[in-house]
Amino acid sequence: MPSKVDMDKIVSLCKRRGFVFPSSEIYGGLASCWDYGPMGAELKRNVKEAWWKVMVHERDDVVGLDTSIMMHPGVWAASGHIDNFTDPLVECKSCHLRWRADAVEGEKCPKCGGELTEPRMFNLMFKTSMGPVEEEASTVYLRPETAQGIFVNFENVVTSSRKKLPLGIAQIGKSFRNEITPGNFIFRTREFEHMEVEYFVKPGTDEKWLDYWVKERFDWYVKLGIKKENLRLRQHGKDELAHYAKDCYDVEYLFPMGWSELEGIANRGDFDLTQHAKGSGKELSYRDAETGEKYVPYVIEPSAGVDRSVLAFLVDAYDEEEVQGEKRTVLHLHHSLAPIKVGVLPLSRNEKLTPLAKEVFKRLCPNFMTDYDDSQSIGRRYRRQDEIGTPFCVTIDFESLEDKQVTIRERDCLAQIRVPIDGLEKVIEAKLKGEAFDASSLWATREK
Ligand SMILES: [Zn+2]
Repeated sequence: MPSKVDMDKIVSLCKRRGFVFPSSEIYGGLASCWDYGPMGAELKRNVKEAWWKVMVHERDDVVGLDTSIMMHPGVWAASGHIDNFTDPLVECKSCHLRWRADAVEGEKCPKCGGELTEPRMFNLMFKTSMGPVEEEASTVYLRPETAQGIFVNFENVVTSSRKKLPLGIAQIGKSFRNEITPGNFIFRTREFEHMEVEYFVKPGTDEKWLDYWVKERFDWYVKLGIKKENLRLRQHGKDELAHYAKDCYDVEYLFPMGWSELEGIANRGDFDLTQHAKGSGKELSYRDAETGEKYVPYVIEPSAGVDRSVLAFLVDAYDEEEVQGEKRTVLHLHHSLAPIKVGVLPLSRNEKLTPLAKEVFKRLCPNFMTDYDDSQSIGRRYRRQDEIGTPFCVTIDFESLEDKQVTIRERDCLAQIRVPIDGLEKVIEAKLKGEAFDASSLWATREK
């Protein structure tokens, strides 16, 4: 069952409206690297903030962390990444294109039909050198996940935060994987952002906590507006579990290219702390102050990709509809994710309207991400705000000069209400929080 939305339409909207640009575009771009434009930067920040808010701020059992991208090479030896973080790679003997062996059907090059080499294991970590001397001893890796920065700080966090188990440690940050075949726009890229929690629990309670986090994380996407029918849970088969995992579920989304992973929730057992205790020679265990019991905690890990979440929110919000005989493209983004919350639009660029419109803008912008736009016709400006998912547009017209009132237009139902400028920010704040847009009031009109 394919998604209703074409990826080309999403890529084109992203370019046109400043969500995502090809990286280094004036030099012809760089494969699978993308830059977030003004709207994309806001959307991505909003996704991360929405995650941090529910995962850290609204809980008393999770704390945040921000660790460095480069870490001691011993970390990656202990975690198993140096030996196991590999994909089987084959190369075409004719055109020299390289493929992931498990992605090639049959024994010939999918591009030219040439003969393929025997598979060899290819490590997905990016290597670089630290310091001015390039030698084996100076090799460091760019982290392929943020999780290891959390594990190696377990002791520091427990000691300094004085928290008891169960305890989660959350981190958002860049990760790097030298994927053989990246693709599908911002879905799989070599540089990307992770949002991860390592949730440390007492052994024996791990299965209960896995169930808990699977449900929490599935519901997070639904609460932020993703349609339930476009989401599903998939448990990993025994043969596809990662080397550290005891059990794992994927939250999958129906992307334009089909069902694909949005987030994995894994039961990592005590693999990581045990490995780092061995690797570092430090004891990494937890002592229950009440019972005196000492153990190596088990870990439940909800691990999500920021960029693929952004893509899912865009795809799910995308819609095309007819309004007054014209096609309109609209992003029905959740209010908390919309890059711009309010567009301030004077009816026209007119010297009488401008001062009042600017005054309205100044009043709103300390409270919400606000855009001021007085170019082109009002209809075209509404369409632009619809395409970037702006929930509310405030229009200042000639009547506003007399009655000190403005019109608020809502993105999804297209209803309009007239409200006094005095207290406008309170009205918008309530609407952004979900108060009904009362189109039945005296002043309400409807565009369609
Ligand atoms: Zn070939």
